[in-house]
Amino acid sequence: MLTLDNNICVLEIVTWNGGTLGGPGRGHTLFNSTGYHLVELQQGEWMSIKLAVPNKGRLNERSIEILKQAGLEIEDGGERKLYATVKNGEISVMFLRAQDIVRFVHKGAVDIGITGYDLVLESGLDVHKLLDMGFGRCRLSVAVPEGKGMDAIADVPDGSIVATSFPNMTRRFFKENGKKVEVTEISGAAEVTPHLGVADLIVDLVSSGSTLKTNHLREIATIAESQAVMITSKEAMCTEKREEMEELALAIRSVIDARGKRYLMADVKVSTLDEIRTFLPGIAGPTVMNIVGRTDIVAIHVVVDKSKIYESVNKLKRLGASGILIVPIDRMVP
Ligand code: AMP
Repeated sequence: MLTLDNNICVLEIVTWNGGTLGGPGRGHTLFNSTGYHLVELQQGEWMSIKLAVPNKGRLNERSIEILKQAGLEIEDGGERKLYATVKNGEISVMFLRAQDIVRFVHKGAVDIGITGYDLVLESGLDVHKLLDMGFGRCRLSVAVPEGKGMDAIADVPDGSIVATSFPNMTRRFFKENGKKVEVTEISGAAEVTPHLGVADLIVDLVSSGSTLKTNHLREIATIAESQAVMITSKEAMCTEKREEMEELALAIRSVIDARGKRYLMADVKVSTLDEIRTFLPGIAGPTVMNIVGRTDIVAIHVVVDKSKIYESVNKLKRLGASGILIVPIDRMVP
């Protein structure tokens, strides 16, 4: 049995339907050591890829949305749901706390996990990043109360108290900057601590910066940039599951890549094609198709960056294009 924290353990199953599983056939099941939440493995599932997804919080919804778009028919892991099987048992999805996922992956209890890169960095564990997932973007920043005369790290007096849920990265950062600060570990709401008089400054995750502003705090340094990532252990990359894990990562990458793109179709004058190619390079240039009964007009199909759609449509209109259609793309497999 591997004990990962006070509440969650991973129990290695050594028998199955009266038989003994050996070697790579060994499976895991999750249970809560304070209760009876034993998760049953269905027959055949012990050979599947185990994928851990955040069970709640900021990363939960988007993770499930992307997995669904990649073709994994999973349901949202509500409060009570810990486990789901998808793709005819080829993949087992487990819903776990984002904070725990790094350790589960590192220990080999699950093969792949989705979590925040900030949590990977804070854990200090050596895991392998398969993919940046393009959401959950934030930065770990040092923030100080306004009007305290601290504009840069150099202004932070030695002996200052720093409140944070990221003690390891915070200690490392101030040490590297030659500052002797006292780090107070808290589990959340760091932004209120300077006003309560329990800290002089904070280190916290920031995305828009509005929480800091509301609390009259100002960022003076960024310690790390983060987003949701898909990770695996270095050991898992050396097993027979590597190919399947890379296939799953590829399917997910195809969804992520498609998110920033649109498929544009239009009827354009043949005489304008050269100019159109200058601003619509697409993946390999626009696909040009003949229109029955017309020699002066052709249809083009092209993949365009979402951010370039507005400008591209205006340019096409100016060149006399008609029948312009823009549609979302589910997946882009190279
Ligand atoms: P949770 O605590 O489960 O909501 O997940 C927090 C994770 O969401 C963090 O570890 C980050 O990876 C990510 N995240 C993205 N933006 C923010 C933010 N502004 N504040 C906190 N976490 C964020």
